[in-house]
Amino acid sequence: MILCYEAVANGLIFKYTPLTNPPSGGGPKPQSATSTPLPRNKTMNETPPCPNCKSEYTYEGSGNFVCTECGHEWSSALTQTTEEKRVWKDAFGNELKDGDSILIIKDLKVKGASGSVKVGTKVKNIRLVEGDHDIDCKIDGFGAMKLKSEFVKKA
Ligand SMILES: [Zn+2]
Repeated sequence: MILCYEAVANGLIFKYTPLTNPPSGGGPKPQSATSTPLPRNKTMNETPPCPNCKSEYTYEGSGNFVCTECGHEWSSALTQTTEEKRVWKDAFGNELKDGDSILIIKDLKVKGASGSVKVGTKVKNIRLVEGDHDIDCKIDGFGAMKLKSEFVKKA
């Protein structure tokens, strides 16, 4: 039984549901509130094997992995950046790349503009950025815009 500290502190009842046993029945499906991926927890217990002698007895030092067998040290930063390289995907799971053209699949209200970007609007030469709105682009009639990849389809 895991109790959520915040829930207890707020006087709420925190019901523990094991993930291996999801509630069955025809109830409404739980909706994922947002497509924003959770920040990856970097507290990984496993270190990669030594690239020098293939020993599994390695540990993470200050920014480096160290092999206890042969004393080889190598940068852990390098491994982490390749592991955490983000992949941008459209609403249908197609991978998006810088310079791609996309189609808008949902009417999008534009702050400060009178209209909205209509379904089917084609946007050329997108640029992928970090953040909640992860696509930078220019839309005719609106100018520079930021879009969410979940509302677009690769053209
Ligand atoms: Zn080694």
